[in-house]
Formats: sequence, structure tokens, C-alpha cells
Amino acid sequence: GKAVRLDKFLADSGAGTRTDVKKLIQKGMVQVNGEKVKKPELKVDPENDVVELGGERLGARAEFMYYLLHKPAGYVSATEDTREKTVLELVPKDSRRNLFPVGRLDKDTEGLLLITDDGQLAHQLLSPKKHVDKTYFAVTEGKVVPEDIEKIREGVDIGDEELTLSGKLEILKTWEVQMPSASVKNTESEAKWRSEILLTIHEGRFHQVKRMMEALGKTVIYLKRMSMGPLVLPEDFPKGQCRELTKEELAALK
Ligand code: URA
Repeated sequence: GKAVRLDKFLADSGAGTRTDVKKLIQKGMVQVNGEKVKKPELKVDPENDVVELGGERLGARAEFMYYLLHKPAGYVSATEDTREKTVLELVPKDSRRNLFPVGRLDKDTEGLLLITDDGQLAHQLLSPKKHVDKTYFAVTEGKVVPEDIEKIREGVDIGDEELTLSGKLEILKTWEVQMPSASVKNTESEAKWRSEILLTIHEGRFHQVKRMMEALGKTVIYLKRMSMGPLVLPEDFPKGQCRELTKEELAALK
């Protein structure tokens, strides 16, 4: 197995922060293979060494779990809900773990969602200071025009104290919806237009993509997250599926 520092192993096992566990070690509360140890930097192998805290064996579970979920519409990004289906219902059940989604997608939004029990990583990814970029594919009612690219780049007023950070908008296609009735022919109605866009943002404000497009006079009628930082939703990965991150994906994330 992989050797890790004793203080890291203890902290990862939920014994407290690094500072907390150093104190526990100094107080002589930690035993490794039956011997009291006083060195936080001691290397232990979680699979083969027996680590005890106050006489209790700590599980050989230094590793966190990381899942990539292709969220379908209709599920809420919560761990529990009294009436709605939650994204956790799509993740393999493991009652020893406190898995949670990293950030939220709206109930009607699809796409990439990271599920983990690694609070520290989640915190890093969600920290407003880190500006982890997220790319969304959206279909809008209303025509997205080249001038909107510049507006998104400058930041838009979505009713918060601050403008949004500079985002990147790409127009994939724009088309006119055929109205079933011939009577509406030749009327200049915005609702007849649809656009497909990619929008990359660096924050995670509430309903951010929908509100940004609303600020430009468009309504998002379909939304899917394609990527978050280095994590990309694989093209052939079906909706509702969940799998562990690969080593490469995890390494890129940390
Ligand atoms: N922006 C939104 O408006 N909704 C989401 O689910 C994600 C980003």
C-alpha cells in the first residue's frame, strides 16, 4: 500500500484538522501497531499498519471517493429531500461515506456533477477566489447575437452587487422556429428565434447562466454543464450514469 504521514492519515480519517491531530499525537493518544508514537511525520501504510486513536482502530480508509455523474433533469443537487429525487440516488450506496455533490445544478439542468466525500477538495473547487471555470451548453429562446459576446466578456448586471466576472460566449447556431400557424408569418417576434451557445463562467452564483442570458433578453430553455475545471463530461457517457473518476482526472483536479 501507499505510505502516508500519520497526521494526514488521521485527518483524512476524520479525527480532526492537521492541527488537532498533531495535538492528539503529542498527548500520546495515538498508537501504531501497538506502540505509542509521538511523530506526526511518521509514515504509515493504511492497509497494513494498525493505527489506533484512544484505543480505537481507525478504518483503513484514508482514501476519499470521487464520482463523475451525468445528471439528468428531474433530480435535485442535494443529499436528502423529502419529495424530490436527489442526485445521491444515482450514486452507488455506501453508508459509511458522507457523499455530497460539489456545487449545485438546477433541477432541470443536466450534465457534469462531481460527487465526493472530500470536503477539502470541494471547498477548493467552490471557493470564489479560485475562479474554477465551468462551461455550459445552452439552448435559448431569443436570438443570441455577436454583440452579446462582448457584453458577456465585459460582465453583466444580473441584479447582484457586482457584475459577473468576464465570461466567454460562443454562438454555435441560431435558427428560426417554424410556427405551426401561417398567420404569424412575417411578424418580428423574438420568441421565434432559438440559439445554441457555449458559455464559460468562473463563478457559481445562483442560477447564474439563466440570469446572465436573461440580462441579455434571452431565456434558457435547455442547460447542460459540459465541464468544470479540468473535468470534462465524456461524449459517450449516458445520462444518469455515475462512475469513479479516473486517476488522471483526479490528478488533474488536485
Ligand atoms: N447556471 C444556472 O442557471 N443553472 C445551473 O444549473 C447552473 C448554472
